[in-house]
Amino acid sequence: MFLKDIIQELKDIKKNNLFRYLREIILLDPIHAIIEGKEVTLFCSNNYLGLTHHKEVIKAAKEALERYGVGAGAARLISGHNPLYTELETALAKFKQTEKTLVFPTGYTTNIGTISALVSRRDAIFCDRLAHASIIDGCLLSGARFFRFKHNDLAHLEKLIKEANTFRRRLIITEGVFSMDGDISPLPEIYEIAKKYDAILLVDDAHGTGVLGEGRGSLFHFNIKGERIIQMATLSKAIGALGGFVAGNKDLIDYLINKARSFIFTTALPPSVIAAAKKAIEIIEKEPEHLKRLKENIYFLRKGLHDLGFKLPSYPTPIIPLILGNEEDALDLSKKLFDAGFFIPAIRPPTVPKGSSRLRITISSVHKKEDIESLLDAIEFFYHRDRHRGR
Ligand code: PMP
Repeated sequence: MFLKDIIQELKDIKKNNLFRYLREIILLDPIHAIIEGKEVTLFCSNNYLGLTHHKEVIKAAKEALERYGVGAGAARLISGHNPLYTELETALAKFKQTEKTLVFPTGYTTNIGTISALVSRRDAIFCDRLAHASIIDGCLLSGARFFRFKHNDLAHLEKLIKEANTFRRRLIITEGVFSMDGDISPLPEIYEIAKKYDAILLVDDAHGTGVLGEGRGSLFHFNIKGERIIQMATLSKAIGALGGFVAGNKDLIDYLINKARSFIFTTALPPSVIAAAKKAIEIIEKEPEHLKRLKENIYFLRKGLHDLGFKLPSYPTPIIPLILGNEEDALDLSKKLFDAGFFIPAIRPPTVPKGSSRLRITISSVHKKEDIESLLDAIEFFYHRDRHRGR
């Protein structure tokens, strides 16, 4: 019965064009790969600055690997941590201009561990409706009352938090740059609400870090600082390695070291990964040309899509959603673009709300103008041709 049930569910998933499967990908460089025997240009990675392949980053990782071995062996509270960890956490605190930071094994575990440590049954969370799955899972795991405000809707947030005045702690959660839409949240206004209602603001800046505010993230973009803010970010996107971290004041970090279960009960990241992340932060600070090229590419691609008739707000972020609506259309365009040499998977529910299936295009500093031009030509050819045929 159990298995039969699962098979039926899988059939339904397939019938609704929501089936997902894994593909092998042989990366040739940050933006080229061989998939199913075909060489393609990637427009789907979060490797915004191409740092996965930066020579100095690779060298730092190799040196750490040779010197300290492959794995970390145990959780940090059990067997201690490599000094590279201290160096990375100090560098991240300087980068984010906070007292202290704490690295977790992934961005996902950072969110679930941080949220479930900070709030529990007597508390309330106010979370943007489009927040990432790791945030949602953290909220559910915490047991706190969970209110979701309409995307970037300040009035709705304020209404919810105003009414919820009997809770012990109140935590507002949003993303700096939204992972599937590439829009930026109104952080100054949200922070004012946090202050007014004695709440703490947790900003997931997975996609703002390395990109906005000279690479330091969304809060720098808006020039916001304050003791009521907790920043979360990843080492897996623009920083090109793996891991997540929280940046905030010393007490907060000491609290998380003692309370965040996804930090306490899991093995530390390998020293090579920590060395790579540390070098990548250094590169972001000393080689601004990567970010400069990323910004030029963002502008060029957004303008190109705008000229093709797509209505896109002009956010300075590398995530550009082409919303097609239904799953079939998104899969169809993704397949045609793949056949033409571009890899942009269709993003469907539950990753995005029903009716907003899309191609999530991402751009990096490494793409050349010619890559972007060829993509625009292909989109024009397939998208417009199909539309004119009334599809
Ligand atoms: N937060 C956001 C907004 C994300 O987009 C992601 C990754 N897609 C994560 C957290 C999780 O990060 P990681 O992949 O490092 O676990």
